[in-house]
Amino acid sequence: MHAVNCKAIAEKIIDEVRSETELMDRKPVLAMFLVGEDPSSETYIHKKEEQCVRAGIKSRKIVLSENITHRNLLAEIDRLNGDVDVDAILIQLPLPKQIIEREALERIDPEKDVDCLHPLNFGLFCEYGSEEARVIPVTALAVMKILKECNAAIKGKDAVVVGSSNIAGKPIALMLVEKGATTVICHDKTRDLKRHTRNADILVVAAGKKHLITKNMVKSGTVVIDVGVNQENGIIRGDVDFDNVSEVALYVTPVPGGVGLVTVATLLKNVLRLSRKK
Ligand code: NAP
Repeated sequence: MHAVNCKAIAEKIIDEVRSETELMDRKPVLAMFLVGEDPSSETYIHKKEEQCVRAGIKSRKIVLSENITHRNLLAEIDRLNGDVDVDAILIQLPLPKQIIEREALERIDPEKDVDCLHPLNFGLFCEYGSEEARVIPVTALAVMKILKECNAAIKGKDAVVVGSSNIAGKPIALMLVEKGATTVICHDKTRDLKRHTRNADILVVAAGKKHLITKNMVKSGTVVIDVGVNQENGIIRGDVDFDNVSEVALYVTPVPGGVGLVTVATLLKNVLRLSRKK
């Protein structure tokens, strides 16, 4: 088994972005909303700020109170939509309960929607594929970059994605289909998860359930990408039982230090993509 060096993959992507921003007179600008005081959200935003600096992207953090009204948050989004200096807007999720998340995400100008969470951008991605979409969902892009770096064959292979959310599972599955894998999406109602996962040449897990995937659910030689992040008593674990699955898989991504690092890097790629389109 090979543990995938996701840090190296992320570094490579950030280097690529920096080599382009270095040639730009006006550096791309990413605005990030942090609403409330969720410690995990603060950490995620901080990591993105750090990588922006390395990639030659300017970041702006907009910190808003946990108690902000839905209406006032929409007004803040409108303000940045109208700010010609801002190329890309991100809202760190989750949002406080008084905010209607879908409405907030749909309020972002689609031309600045770096996470590809606006239905128009998600629709373009579904309809036209990754080449012609305005932006690509960042986690899906990260998974594809990792598969590429592992030299994993995709065309004609059997892929299984565990998890069907709009943010992770669905776009990952769509990209695998685009690249020619026969792809099954499993979810919480899947009757016999193991029957599907045992069939996978490529197994991507984004369920948010600690160590859901055990050694007996993976066939020998599978490439396993663990998207899950589960925090318990300050310890972060993936959806895959890394140590045991490593005994049978060809590749496994670790958690922490895995897909998450690459996702931050692909986010920066999207910032660059949006600023170029502008
Ligand atoms: P989500 O919206 O809660 O979706 C979870 C999906 O997993 C749902 O489709 C759910 O099925 C399915 N699921 C839950 N338990 C299952 C089980 N026992 N067996 C099979 N399927 C199961 O979560 P998400 O936003 O997609 O995130 C998933 C995980 O990925 C989380 O740990 C999150 O933190 C992580 N994540 C990481 C990154 C990264 O960059 N590393 C990015 C995004 C998300 P139903 O649809 O039937 O409920």
